[in-house]
Amino acid sequence: MSQGCSHLDTIRAVHPSARGCEECLKIGSRWLHLRVCRSCGHVGCCDESPHRHATAHYHASGHPIMEGYDPPEGWAWCYVDEIMFELGHNTTPRDGPIPRYY
Ligand SMILES: [Zn+2]
Ligand SMILES: [Zn+2]
Ligand SMILES: [Zn+2]
Repeated sequence: MSQGCSHLDTIRAVHPSARGCEECLKIGSRWLHLRVCRSCGHVGCCDESPHRHATAHYHASGHPIMEGYDPPEGWAWCYVDEIMFELGHNTTPRDGPIPRYY
């Protein structure tokens, strides 16, 4: 599946923590794209969003693998190895409608 990422065994089937970026929902902010953490299910916003909560989650938790979650993109990014790889069918399903602001 991937060359060069040594964290594939941390990828779990997770339940998304929120229908949108967890922190942005709390502060009433908006996001562009969403990432879901494949260690714990935290949903955060991407680096093109104002608050970059997915990256903040990596720095706070050390969880290495974030999936391109919404819109569904089918890949994951390892923050430690700085590598992107395809997930194939191993993606996280949305559990309900997610707002989009673009
Ligand atoms: Zn890795
Ligand atoms: Zn956010
Ligand atoms: Zn996490």
